[in-house]
Amino acid sequence: MICYEGTDINQCNNKAVDNQLTYALHGNCYVNLTNRCTLRCSFCPKFNKQWSIRGYHLRLSEEPTTNQVLESIGDVGQFQEIVFCGLGEPTLSLTSLLDIAEAVHGGARVRLNTDGLGNLVHGMDITPMLANRIDAISVSLNAQAESIYDRHCRPPQTGTYPAILDFVACAQEHIDDITLTAIDGLEGVDINACKEIADKLNVNFRTRSLNIVG
Ligand code: SF4
Repeated sequence: MICYEGTDINQCNNKAVDNQLTYALHGNCYVNLTNRCTLRCSFCPKFNKQWSIRGYHLRLSEEPTTNQVLESIGDVGQFQEIVFCGLGEPTLSLTSLLDIAEAVHGGARVRLNTDGLGNLVHGMDITPMLANRIDAISVSLNAQAESIYDRHCRPPQTGTYPAILDFVACAQEHIDDITLTAIDGLEGVDINACKEIADKLNVNFRTRSLNIVG
């Protein structure tokens, strides 16, 4: 689950370092937990042969252990936020996600950037496990309707889009700070309609920009 927080991916090819487990941006520490994804988003850098974000090479030769990530983070207190992000979906590495979040929680704000499909993939409600480990969740809604979502995010099965909305409803029971996001510039995506969905769910909304990542 990549974040789109202010970096032009076309400027991100310098200083590549292999196997980057964590990377610092904007005063935050981003955790690159896995390269596995539920989706195959057409706009995803990695499906366009782009693995570097701000000079950090996020292709993993193998998934890191909890200790390797904690060692890579170092002093948690130096960061505003620890953000589970990277070029993959963090909830697919659920055990590591929970263990790392538990270890760093309280030292810095902890945010999960997710596709919102954790409950669907794991076949259970994982959101109670996020309580007291994750302070904020950013969920990629990406579209105002299932047909448009499917066109851009290319899920492996039908029914994925409603599963995101269910995940948000479940997460609201445990996490106060939830933000839905959508990317401005994708064909057919109506940003105002996406924001209306967020408003109806009583969660925050943030617009991301196509090709601006990091
Ligand atoms: S969820 Fe989509 S955009 Fe995010 S890493 Fe996976 S394929 Fe890429």
